[in-house]
Amino acid sequence: MKIQGLPLTEVAQQFGTPVYVYDGEKIVTQIENLKTGFAKAPLKIKYAVKALTNVSILKLMKSQGVGVDAVSIEEVRLCMHAGYAASEIMYTPNCVSFEEIQEAVELGCMINLDNLVMLRKFGQEYGGKIPVALRINPHIMAGGNSKISVGHIHSKFGISILQLDQILEVVEEFGISVNGLHVHTGSDIMDADVFLRGARVLFDSAKNFPDLRFLDFGGGFKVPYKPDDVQTDMVKVGEEVSAAFNEFCESYGRSLELWIEPGKYLVSAAGYLLVSANVVKDTPEITFVGVDSGLNHLIRPMFYKAYHQVENISGEGRDTKRYDVVGYICETDTLAASRELAEVETGDVLVLKNAGAYAYSMASNYNSRLRPAEVLVWKGKAHLIRKREEFEDLLRNQVVFEF
Ligand code: PLP
Repeated sequence: MKIQGLPLTEVAQQFGTPVYVYDGEKIVTQIENLKTGFAKAPLKIKYAVKALTNVSILKLMKSQGVGVDAVSIEEVRLCMHAGYAASEIMYTPNCVSFEEIQEAVELGCMINLDNLVMLRKFGQEYGGKIPVALRINPHIMAGGNSKISVGHIHSKFGISILQLDQILEVVEEFGISVNGLHVHTGSDIMDADVFLRGARVLFDSAKNFPDLRFLDFGGGFKVPYKPDDVQTDMVKVGEEVSAAFNEFCESYGRSLELWIEPGKYLVSAAGYLLVSANVVKDTPEITFVGVDSGLNHLIRPMFYKAYHQVENISGEGRDTKRYDVVGYICETDTLAASRELAEVETGDVLVLKNAGAYAYSMASNYNSRLRPAEVLVWKGKAHLIRKREEFEDLLRNQVVFEF
């Protein structure tokens, strides 16, 4: 298996395993797909950086004219480190302190608030001096499963659309300038209609806000995980949302920017986790392949029941056999259950696909294991963009108490 002509087995040899490998060209293709889909609207892409925060990836996004959406002050700082001006960064926090919001204001970020308490404090502090966007919870059930559906009535995210009157009271009381409205209803959404329903909630509310500069329809576009999986039809979504948006702008009386915030769509399929088989273990029921990784590096299968395709890239031409691919963590950490792979021998390199989004960025040191290296393939060459952790990294912040 190759990326840009480069065999992944060579990448594994050069950098060792476990290692995350990203295909820069694939990221660029995904950006272009979005631009094509939304060609008829004044599109601004704000990459949801939480999906993959490596600074070199952020620089790649910047080089392609893509803006960023950050959910923490640390993500804001990483984006600035990558060269983004604070004014290009949308800060969309949830349940953070007012002090953190102030820090983002002082840096000069765009601010997106998702609760009435902070909106009131914001009004008290800044009046109409600093414009603010509002994240609306439209009460739409969307997304692949309950963990990644965030726009429903029980979700902690956003200000309920049912509280619009209260929003307007606070806005009026403090003369707050609302420059954007935002919805994000979940991840893994296939249905164009969900985006349109979210859009309609924004259109209906928007007439109450005369200072708008943009409407932000969030992310959540679905990518295929299984070979025959469906994905969001970006042309259909782009065309339908753009048409509805352009019609709305006419009735609003002014042209606004159309924002989207994809995470997974931009980086998921660009990422590969390469691991080595430590042991092939037969039991009366199952043959396990135990690899030099686990839920510490890729938590998605255990956390979201996510499906990641696996291939044994060292086993080309061999007969196939059914395996459970499991990690080396002292938990049940099945990375892939019941998969037909080319027969696995100790030391073989396996690749887990779709490992670009919410993969390295959700990795931990559980079991005191070290986080892997990250490699970017760009113009056919592999570049190390994050070193593998070393034992010293585990001790770095520990303050040892001597008895
Ligand atoms: N925008 C916001 C506010 C989010 O919380 C998220 C993901 O959690 C995204 C965008 C990106 O979602 P996805 O990666 O599914 O596109």
